Amino acid sequence: MKKFIRNTAVALITATVAIAAIIVIKTLNHTPPPFSDVAEVNIQLDEAKLAANLAAAIRFKTVSYQTSKGKQNKEFSDFIAWVATTYPQVNEALQLELVNQSMLYKWQGSDDALKPILITGHYDVVPVIPGSEAKWQQPPFSGNIVDGVIWGRGALDDKSGVVGILQAVTYLLEQGFQPQRTVYLSFGHDEEIGGRNGAGAITALLKEQGVQLAWSLDEGSFVFDGIFPGLDALMASINVAEKGSITLDIVATAPGGHSSMPPQNNAVSDLAKAITKLQDNPVPGGLGGLSTEMFDNVSRYMPFTMRGLFANQWLFGPVIDRQLSASATTNAMLRTTTAPTMLSGSVKTNVLPIEAIATVNFRIHPRDNMQSIEDYVTQLVASDTISVRARGGINASAVSDWNAKGYEDIARSMREVYGDIAVAPGLMIAGSDSKHYGQVADNAYRFNPFVLASEDLTGFHGTNEKITVANFAQGVRGYIQIIRNGSEQ
Ligand SMILES: [Zn+2]
Repeated sequence: MKKFIRNTAVALITATVAIAAIIVIKTLNHTPPPFSDVAEVNIQLDEAKLAANLAAAIRFKTVSYQTSKGKQNKEFSDFIAWVATTYPQVNEALQLELVNQSMLYKWQGSDDALKPILITGHYDVVPVIPGSEAKWQQPPFSGNIVDGVIWGRGALDDKSGVVGILQAVTYLLEQGFQPQRTVYLSFGHDEEIGGRNGAGAITALLKEQGVQLAWSLDEGSFVFDGIFPGLDALMASINVAEKGSITLDIVATAPGGHSSMPPQNNAVSDLAKAITKLQDNPVPGGLGGLSTEMFDNVSRYMPFTMRGLFANQWLFGPVIDRQLSASATTNAMLRTTTAPTMLSGSVKTNVLPIEAIATVNFRIHPRDNMQSIEDYVTQLVASDTISVRARGGINASAVSDWNAKGYEDIARSMREVYGDIAVAPGLMIAGSDSKHYGQVADNAYRFNPFVLASEDLTGFHGTNEKITVANFAQGVRGYIQIIRNGSEQ
């Protein structure tokens, strides 16, 4: 007996030591990719001039309102004219085609056998929320440059993209650069209202011309600074897909009647139970595919404990899953999200409702689709008194290849410009013009090469949108490298 206990103890200790050893070895091997093969670039730019051009672009009130009413057409045509006069080299060397009020430039490559690439952004902006003007430290369309910061609507979304691309191409032309692949540039005028007449029409035109792109690069994620939980290093988050969306009405019906003699349940209480059930049963998701790849890359730059967790998913998988699902930001990367947004019931205080409706918006992860979400919800909540009605939506995009050359070119460009930073594929939570361009591209990437910190987030579609001159210039260097590397064979 004694011998048996001793042997068991020895076996347990040996197993524990072995597991601990595996954990430590895997953690120690879970390191960033080597930086020695990346040559950091040194690109001299006239930063004051870049800033002045972005500021000038911001001053055009190229606002997309939800309806075409209120649109100031002259601001759009003036912006197009401004691009022509401000970037004469681009207009001389590249071929411009106006598609409605969107611009499509073609920079002929030296090798027609290679598939072209597309670098794109949009120059329309969202309106400034009426009444919020006073909250801006600098007027939203002033383009004021104060203490090295460029202020105004579009500074991040997405005039910095448009002007950044034009500056990058100008720089490359001045250097006598000739792309091997044909490079298309496009600047959309209606992205903020779906992009149908801009990116949509350009996509149709390219299709008609038989153009199939190797890849496209549109706005999307940024170089995150302190935004990704647990990460101190900068992280270029190159989005390779965007989520879809579906809105469902959960409808509870009942006989109605006077509220003085209510039955045990009525439409409102039935609906409340259904909503609670939805909240308690999130759409299944978790690590896998894209999210595994993202966390695998990012965690290599994290402190030892976090590295240890991600390096040993075989053991800690469930723990990681629970942690990531608990945070709204990371949860959105793992699954289709559920958000009840609107409610309606009876029209009078003393009348029992014959119908109560909850409107629920789901943001669809690429692993799901509109039908599968409708089926999931129906199966979960539908009954004699509860039905589910779809209001419409859009499926998630295809997931682009993060092992393809285009992705690697963008990733390498970011490390050449920003140094030894983390680069990882990501999932876009919002929509972009890539839903159109993706139809003519083998891969569609969504990424702006500018740094974004938490305090910048309120600028998007909100107040005090701004970018520092240094950050803008660094992003232009990013575009230069992306075009230089990406247009090579
Ligand atoms: Zn945008």
